Amino acid sequence: MKIALASSYGFCFGVKRAIKIAEGHPGSKTYGPLIHNKDEINRLKDGFNIGLANSLDDVEEQDSVVIRTHGIPKNELEKLRALETEVIDATCPYVTTPQKIVEEMSQKGYSIVIFGDKNHPEIKGVVSYAQNLQDAFIVLDAKELESLPLKSRVAVVAQTTRKPEDFLKITSALILKHKEVRIFNTICNATFENQDAASDLAKKADIMIVIGGKHSSNTKQLHSICKYHCESSYLIENETELQEEWFKDKELCGISAGASTPDWIVQNVIDKIKGIV
Ligand code: SF4
Repeated sequence: MKIALASSYGFCFGVKRAIKIAEGHPGSKTYGPLIHNKDEINRLKDGFNIGLANSLDDVEEQDSVVIRTHGIPKNELEKLRALETEVIDATCPYVTTPQKIVEEMSQKGYSIVIFGDKNHPEIKGVVSYAQNLQDAFIVLDAKELESLPLKSRVAVVAQTTRKPEDFLKITSALILKHKEVRIFNTICNATFENQDAASDLAKKADIMIVIGGKHSSNTKQLHSICKYHCESSYLIENETELQEEWFKDKELCGISAGASTPDWIVQNVIDKIKGIV
């Protein structure tokens, strides 16, 4: 059996940058998990003594606190800054962009529509920048727009990991009903590149292994794209989850990895597969 890696996979710019920032501040705490990968978080803990603060209660004076890639709500950032702590912001610049847009457009009086998952930390952070939370709405589906009390002027942004085709459905529905719609395409290119490469490979592969955090929306989407083209597509966090029977009678095994998956985990998976086949 041949093993082929997608032409683009794994760590994106924002994650590489956040890890570098954390490594540069040994002994600090990250506010929320830095990235969606517990193995990498353990590596930072063991090698750089990077701890984890899940909330403000876990932060002590004199702590150095690294803000995770997906950002945090504005009021929490302000509270952290008011403490005697050093705040090191590792929020990805592609995430601070929609935060700034929401802040600016809501100040200008636009209703805000955010296309994304209201439970995702990135979206909890983005929506918190709206000046008036009663006039900021998070939707996952164009149908949800029908019942919203939107003004005639609407500004819309998207969660960085969403599919552009789905964003188009939201923006089209808004244009049909509102006089002025300001569309900001805040979907991140890193996601497209990994998705396009995974899709190309999945079309040829007999089995696809997608490596990444089970709670990472980016990895889950990568898996669903692979599954669409290749029925035998599996999402795993590391090599311990591989099962020998998956590879029976398969000729080409494709591999992709989510934006929070480090290369050393990808290599471990490849080595284990080589041992199986
Ligand atoms: S996927 Fe994009 S937005 Fe998310 S951390 Fe990476 S570069 Fe930033």
